[in-house]
Amino acid sequence: MSEAATRTWPPQGFSYGNRMLSGNMERHPVLPKDERTVEKIQAALIEKKRLTVPDVIRHDVCTKRTLLGMSIAETLLLAKNFKPYGRLFCAACKNYFPLESFTWAEDGQRIA
Ligand SMILES: [Zn+2]
Repeated sequence: MSEAATRTWPPQGFSYGNRMLSGNMERHPVLPKDERTVEKIQAALIEKKRLTVPDVIRHDVCTKRTLLGMSIAETLLLAKNFKPYGRLFCAACKNYFPLESFTWAEDGQRIA
């Protein structure tokens, strides 16, 4: 069994912090940097037939776009055998919504 299959997520002891005025939490769990190396990101991009790490999401309900933090975008790209986020934040709605209500802005593909 691979390490990813047994991963505890969010990592044990992780704290989201407080909810900020913008509506999102202070912190979100991301894969550690040594799991987000250039080599691993390039391999995942090739596997998923993408040229760049997708980092702009579009919310179906309001149709607005939100720029993800790069560490979050990389975690979404690299996560295998676990779901890093059940919900994503829409900056326009100032709230979290299920992954199913978002697409990638660049190509309209479903995130979940
Ligand atoms: Zn929205």
